[in-house]
Amino acid sequence: MKFECHGHIISDGVSYRDSMARHKNGIDLSLIRNNLNLCSEHGITFYRDGGDKFMVSAAAKKLACEYGIDYRTPVYIIHKKGYYGQLYGRAYDDLKGYICLVRDAKTQGADFIKIAATGILDFDNDGRITGPSLGFDELKEMVKIANGEGFAVMAHVNGADNIKNALSAGVNSIEHGFWPDMDVIDYFLQTGAIWVPTRATVRNLIGVGRFSDKVLLRILEAQSQVLLKAYKRGVLIASGSDCGAFMVPQGKGTNDEYAILSAMGINPERGNRAVAEIFKYV
Ligand SMILES: [Zn+2]
Repeated sequence: MKFECHGHIISDGVSYRDSMARHKNGIDLSLIRNNLNLCSEHGITFYRDGGDKFMVSAAAKKLACEYGIDYRTPVYIIHKKGYYGQLYGRAYDDLKGYICLVRDAKTQGADFIKIAATGILDFDNDGRITGPSLGFDELKEMVKIANGEGFAVMAHVNGADNIKNALSAGVNSIEHGFWPDMDVIDYFLQTGAIWVPTRATVRNLIGVGRFSDKVLLRILEAQSQVLLKAYKRGVLIASGSDCGAFMVPQGKGTNDEYAILSAMGINPERGNRAVAEIFKYV
């Protein structure tokens, strides 16, 4: 049994934009089937999607059973207007709008809610985190609303203080979690949240020439120090490659993430099972 705890079935790992464009005028089921087949060939039996804006993951959920895959999706990523996430999901203006999105996701078959709490890393700028981040009060309210609708929350988060805010607010998993500090470990342990470090998405860029290897290695090193200590202290760490992202193909990306964690001495089994247990609509 192999777990992909953070993927994007919409994309092929070559170009996210081109992949999205193929579904722009209607979902192309043959492309979804192709990616599901790749997953199945790689032995993947559990796939937690990170969502997309063209309902592709929602369509994939209906087909996944044919490929022997237990498939979970937030349908789309929810982000605040003007914040990171525009390419992948839907935006809200205020909490009223957010509630509408949570309920809409429910009608579309969401298994959980995915929130973009911060930006991504700007590899051209020393890996600095892009854009504004959601504050603790807003995150707490968002988690409360999602929980009230029966959903667990998957949160895209980078940066030590943002990780602490998201964990204090009650999210169930931290996706990426780059630029952490040692203090985040206690927050993980106190909340029981799962860390999905998605290391393949950075590691697979090394040597490609698009970004500075020095910057990429610094980002990985800063995360690995905390990650390893967190694992040793009992934090749940799950294997999610962010497959679909550039240089992270379906199937192969999942294997890469397992190999990266394994080389660090991390067994994601407990974390993976926790993801499967927590991220379902109840
Ligand atoms: Zn992702």
